[in-house]
Amino acid sequence: MSKYFKDGFVYNEESVNYVGLPRPYVDTEESLYKKDGKFHLHKRVPIPWQSKPANAGHFLNIVHENEDKIYGLNLCPYCGKDFLPNEESIRWISKKRIPQFEGPSVFSDSHPFHIECMKQGRIFCPFMRQIDDSEFEVGPFYKLKIDANIYRQKVVDYYNKNTRVSYK
Ligand SMILES: [Zn+2]
Repeated sequence: MSKYFKDGFVYNEESVNYVGLPRPYVDTEESLYKKDGKFHLHKRVPIPWQSKPANAGHFLNIVHENEDKIYGLNLCPYCGKDFLPNEESIRWISKKRIPQFEGPSVFSDSHPFHIECMKQGRIFCPFMRQIDDSEFEVGPFYKLKIDANIYRQKVVDYYNKNTRVSYK
């Protein structure tokens, strides 16, 4: 067992709302972890707090109830815990997604994470793993949160201007 998992702490009805590290895990199906190309999963994968395991195609789905709490309550998308105002944190600067990004935005992707939580996310998420170090900013939580809110508002404005879907 590595520090990423606690033996037997699987993702299930009891662990679904667990906050903190290590995350509850799932053991992935062979068809998922052996898939070649860009979508390659580890055999054992921790489930972030704002996600839940899904079936075929998408490995994880967003838990919308938790997604909404992240911005409102200043929580880490990966572990679900909060931050001290000056706590060093890290966020993905997803500038490249505007305006090319299509579909509803997962705002928690660009919210600050704890340093260790982002490390784990970048190990186990096949998408985050491919992102270059230069696409992240590190700093005190209160500052990164301001940046995250600005980014979120830009996306909201973009959608409200360019699509018929209304975002708030
Ligand atoms: Zn965290």
